[in-house]
Amino acid sequence: MANTQKRDYYQVLGVTKESSEGEIKKAYRKLALKYHPDRNPGDQQAENNFKEAAEAYAVLSDSSKRAQYDQFGHSMGGQGFSGFEGFQDSFRDFGDIFGDLFEDFFGGSARGGGSRVARGSDLQYSLEIELTEVLHGKKVTLNIPRLETCDACTGSGAEPGSKAETCSDCRGAGQVRMTQGFFSIAQTCRRCQGAGEIISNPCKQCRGNGRTEKTRKIQVKIPPGMESGSRLKISGEGEAGERGGPRGNLFVLVQVRPHTQFKRLDDDVLCDVEIPFTVACVGGSVEVPSLEGKVKLKIPSGTQSAKIFRLKEKGLPRLHGGGRGDELVRVQIEIPKKLSDEEKKIICLLAQKRKENVEVSKGFLDKLKDTFK
Ligand SMILES: [Zn+2]
Ligand SMILES: [Zn+2]
Repeated sequence: MANTQKRDYYQVLGVTKESSEGEIKKAYRKLALKYHPDRNPGDQQAENNFKEAAEAYAVLSDSSKRAQYDQFGHSMGGQGFSGFEGFQDSFRDFGDIFGDLFEDFFGGSARGGGSRVARGSDLQYSLEIELTEVLHGKKVTLNIPRLETCDACTGSGAEPGSKAETCSDCRGAGQVRMTQGFFSIAQTCRRCQGAGEIISNPCKQCRGNGRTEKTRKIQVKIPPGMESGSRLKISGEGEAGERGGPRGNLFVLVQVRPHTQFKRLDDDVLCDVEIPFTVACVGGSVEVPSLEGKVKLKIPSGTQSAKIFRLKEKGLPRLHGGGRGDELVRVQIEIPKKLSDEEKKIICLLAQKRKENVEVSKGFLDKLKDTFK
């Protein structure tokens, strides 16, 4: 594995960029169970697959690492992901992921007795904003289709007037203990699928799910200075949990649309403008675009092509440290494509004065002498 090209983390887990946290966890769980070394003794390929999945999960399950990965891919290895090199050789380093997973697989002791309430899934919404909106931030209303607790049964899944019965297989615990290999583990009860109860008369409105899909309007404030590819966490605006469980979270993945005039360089913006060669020669002022409309820029005499002028605090808000970045104006000297005879004469005269060898027809030069005697 060390010598081969790294596969895309989403591909490794068989999920997409739009997949929710819950879907990613589920996909990893499946792979981890399939390729776990205990189940595949001596199988190097399985072990490699197992490590690959763990690495992908470690990144994609962490919203900030995931956002970085979405933006930079594997290329940002030097920064956030270098830590993974270490665990190519050892399983111990990601014990915490596994601790969490094993709790999920086999039912953690921490969950306590009685019927279990699961937290609702996280949702992700992709939002495109303009570069100019990064400046002041933006308030948006998102229409989010999501699972809401069913009104009719208030989430119980049982038809109003009826009640769910305690599962006889697990006596309401949602888990049964099984012996597998050398250790005893708790497994989710097959009969009630972990709910601890059986609904014999399911609610008609939600077909016993306890939740129905509804589209909700959610107000989101995009703060100034957002970077493309970063995610906002809106706590408690994900899907409703099962049986009245807590809501998941909503993540808003913000993409900043590339601007036709400005290129973003962290907090600074770069803008290319053409200035007349006369202004570049003797100095003057030109109008240049800024994020907030046109501004005047003074051009000193003798300005060279590709010179960069810095407009202080005309860039984007700084996320850390406050204030604003700058606008960098890179000038190109504009050479006129067409000149009138009059203009051509003036240029030729200037060239003569500077002993510069312009080539024009002899007739034209003769005419020139007459004009500027
Ligand atoms: Zn219902
Ligand atoms: Zn049961």
